[in-house]
Amino acid sequence: MSIAFIDLKQQQARIRAKIDAGLSTVLDHGAYIMGPEVGALEARLGEWTGAAHNISCSSGTDALLLALHGLELQPGQGVIVPSFTFAASAEVMPVMGAIPVFAEVEADSFNLDPNKLDAALAAGKAADIDVVGIIGVGLFGQPANYDAIRAFATQRGLWLIDDAAQSFGAQWQGLPVGQLADVTCTSFFPAKPLGAYGDGGAVFTNDDHIAEIIRSCRIHGMGKDKYQNVRIGMTGRLDTMQAVILDAKLDIFEDELTLRQTVADRYHTLLGDMVGTPQLASGATSSWAQYCIKLPNSCDRAAVISYLGDHGVPTAIYYPVPMHQQPPYTDFPQSQCGLGVTCDLSARVLALPMHPYLEDAQQQHIAAQLRHAL
Ligand SMILES: *Cc1c(COP(=O)(O)O)cnc(C)c1O
Repeated sequence: MSIAFIDLKQQQARIRAKIDAGLSTVLDHGAYIMGPEVGALEARLGEWTGAAHNISCSSGTDALLLALHGLELQPGQGVIVPSFTFAASAEVMPVMGAIPVFAEVEADSFNLDPNKLDAALAAGKAADIDVVGIIGVGLFGQPANYDAIRAFATQRGLWLIDDAAQSFGAQWQGLPVGQLADVTCTSFFPAKPLGAYGDGGAVFTNDDHIAEIIRSCRIHGMGKDKYQNVRIGMTGRLDTMQAVILDAKLDIFEDELTLRQTVADRYHTLLGDMVGTPQLASGATSSWAQYCIKLPNSCDRAAVISYLGDHGVPTAIYYPVPMHQQPPYTDFPQSQCGLGVTCDLSARVLALPMHPYLEDAQQQHIAAQLRHAL
């Protein structure tokens, strides 16, 4: 039995005709940059997020950079971010001369622990850093607890970004991703739940002023026209051809989210007695970017991975080294309550194959092999 970690081929078969036709239209009109398909996609993304401004861009990382430009982050200022995340969430601060302040996550949701934000803020203060905002991450597809995080941020006058690179399409207490923070960023990297066939991303906000700065920074800080530069920006546009791909994928996105939930439910039934399976908070849905289990404490993860690999089950570790232990990041402030949960998760997590087209028989095979391995 051959099992793909992420299978984009079956998905492509459903939408290939629309993609072929759409790409052919772009080849005919030739507007490769900011063609009409880009605006059409942004309007469609707006139907998902309900946000006033839906701004496509060149990647999830650039979405975060644009968001920080929009929020006018200054060099030397600090931003609270979980250490248990993909590098980009923390990387964008030093790129702008600012400072990530590492916070602890919850063992169940893998997301920022609202009760430990105070300890991160205190670490920033102790290092004499002006902490101005928080980046929460919807890791593996489930939004963070933004009710509690937003309450904390509002009380302290901090802004809030949702790094929804993995959680686009999910909901929190009935609200869609795109409405949970001051600014939401997502990625269209091919392996994300909504992926293009290349790099891409988007920024969502209801704030007109932030949106205006982001639109300007996306094209070199342009003013009324593109050869008038009113601020320092970047090249942050989404390619027209990627907009075509994303438009086709949006046709089946809702269906795919349902299929992903079915796959997650089956995993939970098959594996729940063996390993720690991911739990959704009450009122949360997930776009199931990844299905990450927690192996038992005593378990030799490398041996499990190698056994599974030998038996046709590809796996991955997200993330083996937390950000505060990566060499360029070790000098940045760390939560005063420590990052014990983060370190424990890094040592125990294992991501199993996850995509909408994973079949029951394949999941039975994965579960059987995992049982043997353990
Ligand atoms: C993938 C990812 C990003 C970066 O997205 P790119 O499109 O690869 O730049 C940022 N944050 C998180 C949590 C991600 O998973």
